[in-house]
Amino acid sequence: MGVVTPRSNGRTPLVAVQNVRHFYKRGTSSNLVVLEDVNLSLYNGEIVALLGRSGSGKSTLLRIISGLLTPSEGEVSVESKRVDGPADGLAMVFQSFALFPWLTVQENVEIGLEAQGVRAEERKKRALAAIDLIGLDGFESAYPKELSGGMRQRVGLARALVVDPKVLLMDEPFSALDVLTAETLRTDLLDLWMEGRMPIKSILLVTHNIEEAVLMSDRILVFSSNPGRVIAEIKVNLPQPRNRVDPAFRAMVD
Ligand code: ADP
Ligand code: MG
Repeated sequence: MGVVTPRSNGRTPLVAVQNVRHFYKRGTSSNLVVLEDVNLSLYNGEIVALLGRSGSGKSTLLRIISGLLTPSEGEVSVESKRVDGPADGLAMVFQSFALFPWLTVQENVEIGLEAQGVRAEERKKRALAAIDLIGLDGFESAYPKELSGGMRQRVGLARALVVDPKVLLMDEPFSALDVLTAETLRTDLLDLWMEGRMPIKSILLVTHNIEEAVLMSDRILVFSSNPGRVIAEIKVNLPQPRNRVDPAFRAMVD
């Protein structure tokens, strides 16, 4: 690993965050400045980790990138088009899974496609493919409460992947899981990524876990607190394949 300067290489970034500043209103007079002059680019083919402490504004930044929240200043563009409202081509995976408890696995996965107006038959086909890809074959009719944490996050992943996003935004996706489950899910995700089986071009992984950032990413953006901004970029050069879980170990976990 070595510290490198931000790169552009003349390529167009998939996602570009430019001069983003964000504050939350606090009472009548004071504002809480959470993000200050945040700049980052995400390129085709890379996994980037955004590493920062709890409360540093990582989730706020992801909400801004996904278009769910408008920044106080600055802008986000996806493939050079300025984002103004929920952005096409991006999908999010949440720390707490954010599944609907009254819907089955399949219904939870189909949700995003329903919003896009995809017809029922096509929705089913795509949802089943995503469920199968993520290793939940046979659990289509189960409800979230019947699943382990790791399986619930697999549903979260399938629901993100089913819309065919270009970029996956992951907000501490493994931090609600025990270490063994987190390790297994990380490995499965990396396998799918390295085998090119996920229809995505890039991943932005938000984490407060240094080891996870090193194992999962090609580049680490170090994020400061109070206010949050990217203060360093570290290039990761681990031998491939990364983050292997021993099959015997996996048999114990599954
Ligand atoms: P992180 O994801 O890095 O833990 P967050 O983006 O969730 O950080 O929060 C950054 C700061 O902004 C925290 O101090 C948090 O309390 C505050 N905050 C987050 N969301 C809101 C909100 N909707 N209104 C007011 N303050 C918020
Ligand atoms: Mg957060």
